[in-house]
Amino acid sequence: MTFESLGLSNALVKAVEKKGYTEPSPIQEKAIPLILAGKDVLASAQTGTGKTAGFTLPMLHRLAAENKWKRRPIRALVLTPTRELAAQVYENVREYSEYLDIESMVIFGGVNQKPQIRTLRSGVDVLVATPGRLLDLHSQGALSLGKVEFLVLDEADRMLDMGFLRDIKKVLELVPKERQTLLFSATFSREIKSFASSILRNPVSVEATPENTTAEKVDQKVYRVDKGKKTELVIKLINDGHWKQVLVFTRTKHGANKLTEKMGKAGISAAAIHGNKSQNARTKALDGFKKNKVRVLVATDIAARGLDIPLLPHVINFELPNIPEDYVHRIGRTGRAGASGEAISLVCGEEREYLKSIEKLLGERMVTSSIDGYEPSKEDMESQPIKGKAQKKGSGGGNRGGKSSRGHRGTGGINSGGGGSNRNKNKSRRPRRD
Ligand code: AMP
Repeated sequence: MTFESLGLSNALVKAVEKKGYTEPSPIQEKAIPLILAGKDVLASAQTGTGKTAGFTLPMLHRLAAENKWKRRPIRALVLTPTRELAAQVYENVREYSEYLDIESMVIFGGVNQKPQIRTLRSGVDVLVATPGRLLDLHSQGALSLGKVEFLVLDEADRMLDMGFLRDIKKVLELVPKERQTLLFSATFSREIKSFASSILRNPVSVEATPENTTAEKVDQKVYRVDKGKKTELVIKLINDGHWKQVLVFTRTKHGANKLTEKMGKAGISAAAIHGNKSQNARTKALDGFKKNKVRVLVATDIAARGLDIPLLPHVINFELPNIPEDYVHRIGRTGRAGASGEAISLVCGEEREYLKSIEKLLGERMVTSSIDGYEPSKEDMESQPIKGKAQKKGSGGGNRGGKSSRGHRGTGGINSGGGGSNRNKNKSRRPRRD
């Protein structure tokens, strides 16, 4: 299968070739012809599947085919939950539209509005935005959504998790009823299904990976360890394995900062990325990580969602997430684009309920083990589970049973156990949630 045979224009095929893609990914093969045919699409796809090109390419094809306006109105609106994802999607739009007469831009919070307003005034065809800033600018009269033909909701499940439902409903009132709507989501709870059915018209469903299952190529390991020994263990794992690029997840922003500091003291270059960090700091941390200047990126779930970090070999769950679906998202950062990856979870006694919730979602028991010298103590294993328990996302969960983890690679010392150019250059440091 080629991009040409999917019906994309020469200008788009050229842009795709420039990116070095030789053939469409499965989600692209399925979604592109449907979107070109004008269908609403409900897609189950995680980051790493090529979903962004899956919706961007056919959308650009259709927009370019009918480009009759003198002053460009916003004809396509892509909503994303986080600033990072917005920036990434925008980057994709910009690259794929290189040989088209299409202007695009991205807007998100945490940076000065003025340059964004100026660019909007000059006219853009494709706007990528986070909901908060979009509504802010709309209420100031800086943009109109009355000519939107395409509405894309990327990582819709995450947008609902982050409390954007009301904002999205407001946006829906501002865009025309006659439009093509595309909804992408990594998980499908009852909540997301009912949300989707309320905004899509006769949608066609496409799936890149089976819902709520963990990626096939991810080798999952769970090490039991005392809470107080986790930092030491994670440093040992990184040093012993000579890992050059590791993504570590913590549950809290404070935890992310603390761990980053301790890594630094142990001589491991690390940077934290979470909601309290300024946009600049987040971008810098991610850049440093991508360019191998920073060895460890410590992230909270919200900050990490949607980050495009190709071929990441190691992901460590320093703490398990309290929302089980986040486990699936986290380990989706590894084993991508044909490469295998390893996801290690460090689990202490008080997290046992979280582990149970994850096993329930995956439909399988996770094999646990421990590392020599870091075996869990009786006291830790018997400690009270964290209050508040695991949070349920929506009411459904939609578990279909996951693929089994691949057990352990018998490494020594492991004891088996039981069971439009972004013309916005402003550098305001005001942190805010989009
Ligand atoms: P996404 O799932 O959209 O975040 O894309 C994940 C990564 O896959 C990005 O780095 C894309 O540039 C890359 N990608 C997208 N489509 C293809 C393709 N057809 N062949 C190879 N890589 C791709």
